Amino acid sequence: MDTAEARASLQAPAGGRSSILIVEDEKPLAQILRENLVRAGYDVTVAYTGPAGISAMDAATPDLVILDVMLPLISGFGVCEAIRTKSQVPVLMLTARDTEEDKLRGFEVGADDYLTKPFSMAELLARVRALLRRRPAEIALQLRMGNLELDLQAHMVKRDGCPVDLSMREFDLLAYLAQRRGELVSREQLLSEVWGYEYVGDSARAVDVTIWRLRSKIEENPHEPRYILSRRGLGYLFNPEL
Ligand code: CA
Repeated sequence: MDTAEARASLQAPAGGRSSILIVEDEKPLAQILRENLVRAGYDVTVAYTGPAGISAMDAATPDLVILDVMLPLISGFGVCEAIRTKSQVPVLMLTARDTEEDKLRGFEVGADDYLTKPFSMAELLARVRALLRRRPAEIALQLRMGNLELDLQAHMVKRDGCPVDLSMREFDLLAYLAQRRGELVSREQLLSEVWGYEYVGDSARAVDVTIWRLRSKIEENPHEPRYILSRRGLGYLFNPEL
């Protein structure tokens, strides 16, 4: 495997990438959103008007829609209503107006979440992950690997039938790896997918430290891990043989 191939295989989750439709008429913002989401491993389509957004829904079946409220021709509320006539896809609405009325209207037309501009990319990525995680058909809610049981809905982990006390981050990290059993995941990908921020220098250490804490809680012998394996310089993977 050459380096390019190795990189490509690191980026493509085993279960297939999630696809996101962005409906946003402000082109610079649409561009920034697209770049960040692509970097976080998503397939991204962009539509710049309400009608284009509705057609894009017909052309593809995105796993999530990021929808601006103030759009030319048909507002985000109208687009959301149109989407809801045929799809339960999670919808994250974006608006410049932070009013209670807008929020309520958004939820009335079937939006799942709401973000007020300006927002940080980390917050957007965190909301996107949370919404994608909610997709019931897409994920097995209970995973069993070796002596570990993972309940993704109840946020519970049991080892030999006994609850293990994990921090939220430790749980998210374990769930992320366990749902991609056998897939080598880089630290950069973990940072962007589990922590929700772009990789900067030393923050890769945060991944190693959390992995260590997690291993000390779930592994029989954290020095010879069975569940979460390391590949030096490349990242981590959940043991596919369990
Ligand atoms: Ca707009």
